Amino acid sequence: MTNNSVSFYFHIPFCAKKCDYCAFFSLAKQSEELKQRYFEALLRQIDFFPTDRKVKTVYFGGGTPPLLGVHRLCKLIEAINGRFVLSDECEITVEVNPGTVDFDALCKLRSAGANRLSIGVQSANDRVLMSIGRIHTFEQARECIENARKAGFENISADLIFALPSQSDEEFAKGLEMIMSTEIDHLSIYSLQLEEGTPLFARKNELCFPDEDSEERQYDTICATLAANGFEHYEVSSFAKPNYRSKHNLNYWSRGEYFGFGAGAHSYCFGKRFCAPNDVEAYIQNSRTSLLAPTDFDDAPFVSETEAEEERIMLGLRTADGAIIPEASFDNAKRIAALGYGSFENGVLRLNGKGFRVSNSIIANILI
Ligand code: SF4
Repeated sequence: MTNNSVSFYFHIPFCAKKCDYCAFFSLAKQSEELKQRYFEALLRQIDFFPTDRKVKTVYFGGGTPPLLGVHRLCKLIEAINGRFVLSDECEITVEVNPGTVDFDALCKLRSAGANRLSIGVQSANDRVLMSIGRIHTFEQARECIENARKAGFENISADLIFALPSQSDEEFAKGLEMIMSTEIDHLSIYSLQLEEGTPLFARKNELCFPDEDSEERQYDTICATLAANGFEHYEVSSFAKPNYRSKHNLNYWSRGEYFGFGAGAHSYCFGKRFCAPNDVEAYIQNSRTSLLAPTDFDDAPFVSETEAEEERIMLGLRTADGAIIPEASFDNAKRIAALGYGSFENGVLRLNGKGFRVSNSIIANILI
C-alpha cells in the first residue's frame, strides 16, 4: 500500500549510560568519531530516499538523539528540508533526556525546525529514578520542560513509567501531580517490563515491585488524573490535551507508511515491513550502497490483504477512534461493550480506558 505521503523515523542509538531496565538497541558512551560517521551514513540514506513523497512527520528517537550532537541533528533536519517537500504542518519530534540538553541546545533545535519534544521524565521521584539507573533528577526534568517552553516549543510530551519498584501508590499519585504541574501537552505511559539480561532483572529479588492490584491502581490513577487535567486518553498508552495528539504515532496506528533511517530502525514502506540490523558499523558500511542495503527488505514479503485487515483492526482498537469490526465478531463486540470496556455502534468498536488496559485479550477475541 503506498500513497503520496510518508513519515520518517531516525534511530539514534547513543546514550550517556544504559538505564538499568533498558533492552532497547542503544550504546553507551560512543566516540565523536563514530557519531560523525553515523551522521554521514544517515545523510547518505536521506539522499537515497525517493523525493516523490510528501513528508508528514519526522521523529528522532533512540537512544538519546541529542547525543549524536545537536549541531548534527540540526543538519539532518536541514538535509530533510532541502531534499523533500514537507507537509504544511509537518510534526518534527526530538526525543530528549533531561540533563542532556541545555537552553542553548533547545533553541538551536527549535530554530532548525523541530516543533515537538518528547522528554524522558519517567518518574517524579528521585529515589526511584536512581534505583532504575536514570541519569537525571525530577528537578532537571522540570528545568528541561521550562527551557523548552522558553526556547519556543509549544508541543511537549513526557514519558512516564508506572509499576516501578519501591514506590507506594500514594508516592506515585503525588509524583503524577508534580508532572502535571509542569503543564505538558501530552503524556506517554509504559508499565515497567522486566527484561532478562538487564541489570534490573539481575537485581529483581532485592527490589520490591508492585503487585498486579497496585499496578492496576496506578493505571487508574493515571486515567483519573489525566482526565481531571483535560487530557484525552486517545490511545492505549497516550494522553493528549485537545489538538496535541502525536501525528507521528497516529500515522503508525492508521497504517500510514513510514521509513526508518539508521541501525535498528523499523519501516513499513513500499508495501513491506522490514528493519535494519542492530549493528552500527554494518549500517555505516552498507549505507554506501543503497537506501535499503542494510535491511532485510529483499527477504521481507509484501503485507498481504489478510495481514493488512488484521493490522487495521489491531491498531485501530489501540486508539479511541476504534475499528470497524467484521460481522462475524459483532456478538463479541456487543459483549465487550456490555461489560463496560467501550462502545459498539454502527459496526465500530471503541475501547475506553478500562478496555485499553486489557486490549490484547479483547483484540484476540475480535480476531477470531
Ligand atoms: S535513555 Fe532510553 S534508550 Fe537510553 S538507556 Fe535509557 S531507556 Fe534505554
